[in-house]
Amino acid sequence: MKKSIVMATTALVLASCGANKETLTTPAIDDFNYTVEQFADMQILRYRVPEIEQLSLQQQELLYYLTEAALQGRDILFDQNGKYNLAIRQLLEAIYTDPNQDKASADFKALELYLKRVWVSNGIHHHYGGDKFVPAFSQTYFETAVKALPVEQLPLREGETVETLLATLVPVIFDPAVDAKRVNQAAGEDLVLTSACNYYDGVTQVEVEDFYAKMKQPNDPMPISYGLNSKLVKKDGVIYEDVYKVGGLYSAALEKVVYWLEKAKAVAENDQQREVIQKLIEFNQTGHLKTFDEYAILWVKDTASTIDFVTGFTETYGDPLGMKASWEALINFKNVEATKRTTIISDNAQWFEDHSPIAEEFKKEEVKGVTAKVITAAMLGGDCYPTTPIGINLPNANWIRAAHGSKSVTIENITEAYDQASHGNGFLEEFAWSPNEIALMDAYKSQTDNLHTDLHECLGHGSGKLLPGVDPDALKAYGAVIEETRADLFGLYFMADPKMVELGLLPNDSAYKAQYYSYFMNGLMTQLTRVELGKNIEQSHMRNRQLITKWVYHKSQTDGDRAVEIRERDGKQFVVINDYKLLQKHLGELLAEIQRIKSTGDYKAAQNIVETYAVKVDLDLHKEILERYAKLNIAPYKGFVNPVYKASFDKNGKFTGLSLNYTEGYAEQHLRYSRDYSPLTVKK
Ligand code: ZN
Repeated sequence: MKKSIVMATTALVLASCGANKETLTTPAIDDFNYTVEQFADMQILRYRVPEIEQLSLQQQELLYYLTEAALQGRDILFDQNGKYNLAIRQLLEAIYTDPNQDKASADFKALELYLKRVWVSNGIHHHYGGDKFVPAFSQTYFETAVKALPVEQLPLREGETVETLLATLVPVIFDPAVDAKRVNQAAGEDLVLTSACNYYDGVTQVEVEDFYAKMKQPNDPMPISYGLNSKLVKKDGVIYEDVYKVGGLYSAALEKVVYWLEKAKAVAENDQQREVIQKLIEFNQTGHLKTFDEYAILWVKDTASTIDFVTGFTETYGDPLGMKASWEALINFKNVEATKRTTIISDNAQWFEDHSPIAEEFKKEEVKGVTAKVITAAMLGGDCYPTTPIGINLPNANWIRAAHGSKSVTIENITEAYDQASHGNGFLEEFAWSPNEIALMDAYKSQTDNLHTDLHECLGHGSGKLLPGVDPDALKAYGAVIEETRADLFGLYFMADPKMVELGLLPNDSAYKAQYYSYFMNGLMTQLTRVELGKNIEQSHMRNRQLITKWVYHKSQTDGDRAVEIRERDGKQFVVINDYKLLQKHLGELLAEIQRIKSTGDYKAAQNIVETYAVKVDLDLHKEILERYAKLNIAPYKGFVNPVYKASFDKNGKFTGLSLNYTEGYAEQHLRYSRDYSPLTVKK
């Protein structure tokens, strides 16, 4: 480890020569500008890549090649999200950068906003809701602007003219009835025909289902993920798969991905990782799904490498039938310090089990903690860009998970960006009771959030046991909420235990209060900002948070101890915590009851506690919260720009170092990606 630090220092000196903005040294949190811009319902942020300077020169080189592979898949996702997305993006960008456009006109500004939203969504449908965007510029404006473009800037395919191109694209952009939803989930409709995503062409849902039903072998212990990497097409009456591979669909992009993976393979950290990359190359070349499974198994077993990656066809949320995978990339490296934290927790799993406030008969005699790792994202691509998850658990194939395990990661530098960007947005000032709570959360919220997640994931879910003969599905529809409640309570209860400070997981015995206050403020009040007025709580994590906080609140009322209360000031309601230690006691009491419900399979009690505390919303409070939140003008969705990586090579082509630039703007980045990383667009 020490060796790599010395090497990294050398690289740092090399990289900082002659470059003022570009450096390998990570900017300090306080010097870093996390926010980029805000538009529509989006806020664009940037993230730091801390500790990158501690990677060895070879690791930096590997990381660099993987980041290049990650960027080459961007066009694939645009095309998967909709047949005309690439052509539309190309035209919008051409108009946007056309020097003859009047940049002050209302139409131009509307087009700019539309293009920014297209970049966020990798297409013309909202990234989250899936509804088609409504353009605020006129059809005439668009047509005139397109016709004024030099012909070499138009995405014209063989035999196409500007007129035929417009005839195709205008309804796709402007007619609300055409391609209205990217992924239609409405029961009773043909989900394939009514979804605008581009995983199928000319086939009905029934034809798709028949096609894949014939491929599946019943009772296969190692079932292939059929359909994962192809478009299903019907042409001249014949249905066939157009497979994503070199020489197949998306070849131009996948060739580039393979090119960079080959380079990465040559500087792999170890043989295991080299084998992983080799398998992934093979999969891209052949499109064989058996090879994909072999790759996934090798990947999950590689826990020794520092650098890790996802680059390929992974998640299936974009297909209404949940078979076809969108292209995504997440290039990352292990956060060594933070991973020590998860290791400490795992190593002490038995202590936690023994000291859990649940009945002895429900405790596990021998408990094994799950090791999860904390990572630093270095590059987001495809379906992880610009909106990104904060944790990933892969692979998806259930049989591989059962036989070989899975990797669970928390992406801490992304969480950091979310937290830092929310500082000063007025949220805490509006909803926290006093400056004391704000100071507490400023100091410890990020740290305790991460710790709570670790406790929840590494220990909470794995603790406790069912009594002999109890059906694991006894709680039926309430099972998921009860399980999440249990894992959350486990984390909350131990957060206030002196053991946390003793193990070095928290800096002092009041840090946990930041977690308690923010958890109760969220559970009793502010999470309602994500629920429509008049609706109940549906989402299971939101249910478990309300269950915990409302139950404890009521317990505190009936006991008359005022550990937590809701107080009114200037016509606004606030959560006030008067006694944190008492709060922990109540959390322990609830954990004991939730564990009893789980261990004994007490369906009636599960139903009763969920329906009483987790679901219903106080309409007046909800209204008040929504009004207060609306005034803050906070964008509900966040996206990111990536840092710009620059590799240096000596005159013999030998890699000499990496430098990062964090100053690129949002439009600037997308235009650069479209210029330098768009193998699938039609160019003259
Ligand atoms: Zn969970």
